[in-house]
Amino acid sequence: MTNKPKIHIIDVTNRDGVQTSRICLSKLQKTMINIYLNDMGIFQSEFGFPVTHHETNYLNANLELVKMGVLSPIRLSGWIRATRDDVKTAFKMVPQIKHLNLSISTSDQMIMHKFKGKLDHQSVIQEMAGAVKEALKSKAECIGVNAEDASRTRMDYLIEFSLAAKEAGANRIRYCDTLGCDTPFSIYERIKLLAEALKLPIEIHCHNDLGLVVANSIAGAKAACDSGCDAYINTCVNGMGERAGNADLISVILALKYGTGMQEYVLDERVNLKMAWKICKYASYAFGVPIPINQPGVGTNAFAHESGIHADGALKDRRNYELYDFEELGRGEPEIIETGRKITAGEYSGIKGFRNVYEKLELAFRDDEEATKVLELVRYANVHNQKPLVDDELKFIATYPDIARKIFTMTP
Ligand SMILES: [Zn+2]
Repeated sequence: MTNKPKIHIIDVTNRDGVQTSRICLSKLQKTMINIYLNDMGIFQSEFGFPVTHHETNYLNANLELVKMGVLSPIRLSGWIRATRDDVKTAFKMVPQIKHLNLSISTSDQMIMHKFKGKLDHQSVIQEMAGAVKEALKSKAECIGVNAEDASRTRMDYLIEFSLAAKEAGANRIRYCDTLGCDTPFSIYERIKLLAEALKLPIEIHCHNDLGLVVANSIAGAKAACDSGCDAYINTCVNGMGERAGNADLISVILALKYGTGMQEYVLDERVNLKMAWKICKYASYAFGVPIPINQPGVGTNAFAHESGIHADGALKDRRNYELYDFEELGRGEPEIIETGRKITAGEYSGIKGFRNVYEKLELAFRDDEEATKVLELVRYANVHNQKPLVDDELKFIATYPDIARKIFTMTP
């Protein structure tokens, strides 16, 4: 059992999710997503872009949370281009970063029509290998190399590229179905060939342009495991991500746990679906994107029955019409919505109302000075989020005021 390859989850909401057109997260919201992913036992959060200036304080503050044991055992990893310069800049701006994914395009299409003569197939490999060596020199602990557009890359070149990455010292290869053109059949075949030639853990990064993203992700993971390699599936909360999105975090976990035949594959035992309801609701609020009523696991209708035969059957025995239990996903608790007077903490709050908000959270302040200090931060947090703060955000700010201050600080 222990020697079997394992399937881990790397959530990329804070990278692919936020680089998506029309939606974004504040740095506080990104921090909350990291905390919830950690609570959920997710292996790694790709938490941002180390060479992007407006991310610097957020990234460094979250790495402080790692040091303090708040964000532990989750790994926080950064996404950069596979160039020596990006690696150097990343370690200059975010010195404590330990985990990186280095990305470069590998398909003929991209090499010819994106690099347009700047790089050819051989120099793509040289550039990538140079970046990996630079990252090792800078004491990176784990390096993933991303083959962008891997699904449209010639198989022999993809293997050559990946072997060169392994040789340079990479720990994993990320197979990116950048355009979402793979099917479960094609990705299984291709990752099988790659993993057999490479004998290195494979990351599976898929997109939903054909509506196949979860199927492709688990087919890719199955291929890696069948070849004796660990698999790392990339996900986003609520299936956010570029264009039609990435693989939905909860759907992937449900597919691995309840899909026919998938039980013989070993999912990271730390993954805990109890957090599903909370993280999905929070991400929906933070992104301002409603959860579709038919979303697996967390949609309003995921456990709703109306037709006579189904309702009767589900009441007689839930297994008649339900594949998994709503309690497992952290559902079933009543949600209390205040319909009378409600004091909220906002950009223009005063100290009295503010204390009332925190008393309801059962958080007390030492003295007026401390309360005033936190109130000031909460005002900034509201300017930062541009929507009422949720209880966990208020608690976070009161518990880690210095970290919160750093997260809100941006110096253009
Ligand atoms: Zn992507």
